[in-house]
Amino acid sequence: MALLLIRNDKNYTPWIDALKKADSSITVVTPETVENPEEVTMAVTWKAPQGSFAKYTNLKAIGSMGAGVDHLFDDPSLPKNISLTRVVDDKLASDMQEFVSALCLNHIRNLKEYAALQAQAKWKPTSYKRAKDVTVGILGFGTLGQAVGNMLSTIGFKVTGWSHSKKDVEQITSYSQNELDRFLAEAEILVCLLPLTDKTEGILNTELFSKLPKGAYLINVARGGHLVETDLIEALNNRQLSGAALDVFHTEPLPQDHLFWNRNDITITPHIASMSNAASVSAQIAENYNRVKNGEELLNTVSSERGY
Ligand code: NAP
Repeated sequence: MALLLIRNDKNYTPWIDALKKADSSITVVTPETVENPEEVTMAVTWKAPQGSFAKYTNLKAIGSMGAGVDHLFDDPSLPKNISLTRVVDDKLASDMQEFVSALCLNHIRNLKEYAALQAQAKWKPTSYKRAKDVTVGILGFGTLGQAVGNMLSTIGFKVTGWSHSKKDVEQITSYSQNELDRFLAEAEILVCLLPLTDKTEGILNTELFSKLPKGAYLINVARGGHLVETDLIEALNNRQLSGAALDVFHTEPLPQDHLFWNRNDITITPHIASMSNAASVSAQIAENYNRVKNGEELLNTVSSERGY
């Protein structure tokens, strides 16, 4: 039996080292080193090229190396009737908490404007908002959404969350699927932390922006596919939105000639909000591999029907 790693960047060394450290008995192979494809029972992947799994006929489970699984469903030849898993990790959550908190504080204290003023040697104090007077709405109130909400709430922001089902989280108002409009009406900062599925693709569009308070600020740290890019430009131009911080894009890296680069009202980061760390997540991957071997229930499973 063997565990197969497939990554689009072929950066295997840290993953092999960490998995060996987690359980030295596991045989770890890659598409380049596998000798007998039939011995592979589980694959763990990040953006595997389409059709990658066809020759592994004894595959029982495929795991994502990160929290997101949309890259798995992008492959129309993904084997059916197979267990799918993802990563749920404290470090992923705390990295996301810190990043989104930094963006929210950056926004209410106008730090981007001061960076631009400094470049022109201009001294120009402007008024600012306090966290306690600002509502942050988290679209996608799951593992990462709740972690972010808890930190923002500790900082002092008023926090709300929207998810398929209502959640019970202290100090945070949770809205369910059919309460989207109520949730949006209060969200002065909107943070997208939804998984990318058929239902959530393109959700950040003109109609949704029009339901936010005038001058709301958008933070997208989920996936580029959630955003209708032309609708964002229109909402920024007509000041329905005052700005946006984007960590994820339809095309990554963001093309050099993309119009987002030249906008002062958009903050761009290169998909670094929270990066899966091999050392941190290898123990749960090794655990799932051994569970496959023993025919046991897997951890952190993903539903093919829901797409997350
Ligand atoms: P999760 O635990 O699965 O949470 C997803 C949340 O979205 C759940 O609360 C779910 O509701 C809700 N949801 C899903 N579809 C919905 C719909 N159609 N309507 C309403 N609510 C819906 O996922 P997570 O671990 O928090 O991760 C969220 C996403 O963050 C990932 O999928 C990934 O794309 C992104 N991410 C980005 C980075 C980065 O560096 N930028 C890093 C890690 C992850 P229920 O709970 O009611 O089912």
